[in-house]
Amino acid sequence: MYNRISNAELKKKMLEETGLRKTVSFYKYFHIDDPVAYRNKLFVSFNAIKVFGRVYIAHEGINGQISVPESNFDAFKERLYQSAPELDGIRLNVAVDDDGKSFWALRMKVRPKIVADGIDDPNFDPGKTGTYLKAKDYNELAEKPGTIVIDMRNHYEYEVGHFENAIEIPSDTFRDQLPMAVDMFKDKKDENIIMYCTGGIRCEKASAYFLHNGFKNVFHVEGGIIEYTRKAKEQGLPVKFKGKNFVFDERLGERITEDVIAQCHICGKPCDTHTNCKNEGCHLLFIQCEDCARQLEGCCSETCKEEKNLPEDEQKARRAGRNNGIMVFSKSKDHPLRKHRDEWRIERKQEENI
Ligand SMILES: [Zn+2]
Ligand SMILES: [Zn+2]
Repeated sequence: MYNRISNAELKKKMLEETGLRKTVSFYKYFHIDDPVAYRNKLFVSFNAIKVFGRVYIAHEGINGQISVPESNFDAFKERLYQSAPELDGIRLNVAVDDDGKSFWALRMKVRPKIVADGIDDPNFDPGKTGTYLKAKDYNELAEKPGTIVIDMRNHYEYEVGHFENAIEIPSDTFRDQLPMAVDMFKDKKDENIIMYCTGGIRCEKASAYFLHNGFKNVFHVEGGIIEYTRKAKEQGLPVKFKGKNFVFDERLGERITEDVIAQCHICGKPCDTHTNCKNEGCHLLFIQCEDCARQLEGCCSETCKEEKNLPEDEQKARRAGRNNGIMVFSKSKDHPLRKHRDEWRIERKQEENI
């Protein structure tokens, strides 16, 4: 029931395929009694029709990002829909400009949660969610006086694009955001509250958590920003999301409107281009304009630029023992590299003044 062939071999096999593939994502919160048994059954069923990708299964539901041979697409839908009554007819998000070649094996994992939330209250049911809003309904409700719009994403996502008047929850993890959001709006339990995120999976859980905490009128954007903008554009509606939708692929963001709402983290001029620091030992995710990218050779600071230009051996020696987790430029935390950047900024200001 597990893949025993090497990754390289699997990738080669996938690339040799002649048929086209569709990339599809889906999720659903519903109770699964025995996630292991469900996983094993679904694995056999999907494997037989050459579905590749990642699927997570937990007591609270299912979340998948997969690719399906076009010729098997109907069979796939049937198999998914029939695997549990709750999944009958669930929305499948089919990626538009995608060649379907991003996966070459099927990985299905049982996890404690499909979205880590830090909630251990046994009475919390993530299946009892708020009301879905389609693009048109969103525009109408968001216009109403008193409606509160909450962005359930991270700061770096909010920074380059968000819905008009949306409020950010200033924390770095979804875990911390949930209790913080409840606390921030505890006096607004009777107001209309709309939540959104990139694809809907986080805000859907957040909407359930708000209801669980006594909020009465909780809504969330169906399919998140991705589906909202697609539908709004298709139907000729005003697009209330401004700027870029941050996505984790090489583009690091998809432009929705021409508005540039963020600033270069180095010089402060309008810019919404995310980049990763070119220093192998840093990789900080931050916003950098073209001028600053040229001067710092794509690095986040002079310190990183120097390190990047050291001989490879020396760079490796410096990196040893350093914590290289994913680093994100963040306002809520005092990032160690921010210091370098601030020092550099002051130095440059001084140079400019000469
Ligand atoms: Zn700049
Ligand atoms: Zn750096």
